Amino acid sequence: MDKIFDYKIPEHLLETIKEGMRVMVPFGMGNKRLEAYILNIKVVEELQYSLKELLYPIEDEAILDKKQIKLIVWLKNKYLCKYIDAIHCIIPAGIVNIEKKVLHLIEEDWEKSIGSKSKNQIELLRTLKSLGGKATLEKLYSRLAIKNLSSMLKLLEEKKIIQIEYDISSRVKVQTQQYAKLNLEEDEIEPIINTLKNAKKQREIILFLKQHKMCTVRELIDLLKITRAPLNSLVNKGYILLIDQEYKREPYKNIKFESLPKMIPNIEQKEVIQEITTYIQQDKTKTFLIHGITGSGKTEIYLQLMEETLKKGKQGIILVPEIALTPQTVERFYGRFGEGIAVLHSNLSEGERFDEWRKIIEGKVNIVIGARSAIFAPLKNLGIIIVDEEHEHTYKSETNPKYHAVEVANYRGKEEGAIVVLGSATPSIESYYKGSKGDFSLFTLTKRATSATLPEVEIIDMREELDQGNKNILSRKLYALIEENLKSKKQTILFLNRRGYATFISCPQCGYVVKCRRCDIAMTYHRTMKNLQCHYCGEKEGEPSICPSCGDSQINYFGTGTQKIEDLITSYFPQAVIGRMDMDSTSVKGAHQRILEDFKKEKINILIGTQMISKGLDFPNVTLVGIIGADATLNLPDFRASEKTFQLITQVAGRAGRGLEKGKVILQTFNPEHYSIAAASKHDYSSFYDEELNLRREFLYPPFVQLIHISFSSKNLEEVHTISQKITNNIKYILKAKGYTAYDEIVLGPNPAIIAKVKERYRYQVLLKNHEVPYTLLKSIVKYLLIDNRQKFVPARVTVGIDIDPLYIL
Ligand code: ADP
Ligand code: ZN
Repeated sequence: MDKIFDYKIPEHLLETIKEGMRVMVPFGMGNKRLEAYILNIKVVEELQYSLKELLYPIEDEAILDKKQIKLIVWLKNKYLCKYIDAIHCIIPAGIVNIEKKVLHLIEEDWEKSIGSKSKNQIELLRTLKSLGGKATLEKLYSRLAIKNLSSMLKLLEEKKIIQIEYDISSRVKVQTQQYAKLNLEEDEIEPIINTLKNAKKQREIILFLKQHKMCTVRELIDLLKITRAPLNSLVNKGYILLIDQEYKREPYKNIKFESLPKMIPNIEQKEVIQEITTYIQQDKTKTFLIHGITGSGKTEIYLQLMEETLKKGKQGIILVPEIALTPQTVERFYGRFGEGIAVLHSNLSEGERFDEWRKIIEGKVNIVIGARSAIFAPLKNLGIIIVDEEHEHTYKSETNPKYHAVEVANYRGKEEGAIVVLGSATPSIESYYKGSKGDFSLFTLTKRATSATLPEVEIIDMREELDQGNKNILSRKLYALIEENLKSKKQTILFLNRRGYATFISCPQCGYVVKCRRCDIAMTYHRTMKNLQCHYCGEKEGEPSICPSCGDSQINYFGTGTQKIEDLITSYFPQAVIGRMDMDSTSVKGAHQRILEDFKKEKINILIGTQMISKGLDFPNVTLVGIIGADATLNLPDFRASEKTFQLITQVAGRAGRGLEKGKVILQTFNPEHYSIAAASKHDYSSFYDEELNLRREFLYPPFVQLIHISFSSKNLEEVHTISQKITNNIKYILKAKGYTAYDEIVLGPNPAIIAKVKERYRYQVLLKNHEVPYTLLKSIVKYLLIDNRQKFVPARVTVGIDIDPLYIL
């Protein structure tokens, strides 16, 4: 029922109800009470038909302003989502339900001070008394049909008869956690450790706490890979104290940031800053794309543009792909501006998120930094939106509405008179295309801002290595360079786009591959856990000792993940300190920061990681980057596979040589002649772009067409196939009726999805291209069949997903 319904506003609420308010309404045959949002108020002289009346408002203020209502409607039409999905973007769940105004009767003898003529006030206060002298505003509205309730309440508050408070009890769920702390003086530690000669784990705990002062028990257990037993025995001996304490998730609250003064921009930076500043000063709106190589000083440009915006009395949003992966960007904004910044990251608790949100609404902050959803930050006077690494796929939402933050940024920019600045070393093909056509204003930065130069990239053809008898995962060149780097005390980053140990387990006799029972995908072997894991649904299974299919005992591990690389590198270079950064090693809170901190302090010689290490890291002592596996991305069955590979290689390579010394990148591949690998190795965006654009033109992919991806899933293979076929036929039928007969170019599918089964549900997909047919027509057909009349065409058991301008087709 995703529709707008009309309700009559009751007489006594005429002056109270405003657009953007939340109200209770009676709904359906049984007049069930539902929460609703007022999107529009119409004045009608005389009603021609009967209408239900809305019941009462939930708050006395609108929680959506006009611009936000417009944005909701835009999101709905653009992404074909439900109103409520769009509303939940603007006011994240958990925010609306936290804040409740509560009224307290504080003057028992109120009857004296209120004249008997004030009937409404008397009624109100009697009701409040009957409710025990305390009630939420919502409750009062539901009990009383009084005009101007809200202003009357203010009056009574001024007379000190009642008190209005925010009930925050529901949200101040203070999170406590158990922390462990040494209960020893500095000089006691040494002798006590000596008494624990036979208790290795206990010794480790004491040493760890000596270094880290205090740590949650959970982290301690995770990090030291221990059980509770040694900890308990230390507690019993009185060496360690356990304390329950509030657990602060906000990582920036207690950190003092070094102040970072403004830099004098170089020539390239200056041109960009000057040009964009004229737009800021004239309150003009426009989208700019800064294509600047890694380390060319884009962040410094963002900082200076933000400063100009603040000078104009306006506010700004900076989007980063993921807060946890870009700590240095956040640090730099704190370092430059100090106060007045809200950081919205994904693991804020509801209460913390609420606080940040409140700060923004109340105008206490002028800068919002956050990942994708921060694009909806309710700044009232928006002047600039910056999207760093604009090509990143995390800017596209995977849940409804499946919006792209860059598109929302452009929309908000236009509506609210703000400029939009997109930046990347590897702009998305679509954005660069818009830049080249003049839709976006394009700037290019070609030099690193410091004296550093781009690293030299050497391609190693792994087929040749094999031919010459090297079956190792490391080429001889990379091996030699790592060795050299260790000797000269330089740091190395090794990149592999696969976590886990082995990528799959397979039987050499019968070829059987261990697949997830619920998904059509090979399971990954994780050695630390000694199990197999499905990276799609998280299913875990013990490792088989014999082939489940033929019983052969030679079942074997193939492919390489980060864990295996870690083992191999450890065995090759036993003297090196090795760190690993992937989803498994950073699942413990704070582990991520700790690894980076250790790397920064040069406690780690070699850092192995997945794409987590590709972004934003700026460590001057890293002179060598080894790209062990980029081919996996290249072989993805997706039209963006080449683009993604190019971006990944460029980003990872960009981590090398940021300091005084020149960096070197070794790029191992089985596809050295592939254009995206060849271009990335030469830091040649434009030849990659030209080649890719030609292919996109030839095979009809964005930016030359727009796509709509429709997915169907069901537990029943037969059913999902039939339904997707039926919908496809209907689409073709409607197209034909409208005179578009070349629908073989327009409607692709239905085909089984690339991962044909996930979590026991079979998946089919249909892809639409607006080839010589208006995109709006395609959208309206999809809306007609799959939204407005969904019940008619698709049984409820079949899940339908609609993705407008999909990023990946998987
Ligand atoms: P990007 O965001 O393009 O990767 P950064 O803004 O991080 O680039 O800049 C890379 C390095 O160059 C940083 O260490 C930064 O402090 C430095 N830098 C940037 N601009 C200047 C400048 N104008 N003068 C000197 N150093 C600069
Ligand atoms: Zn699975």
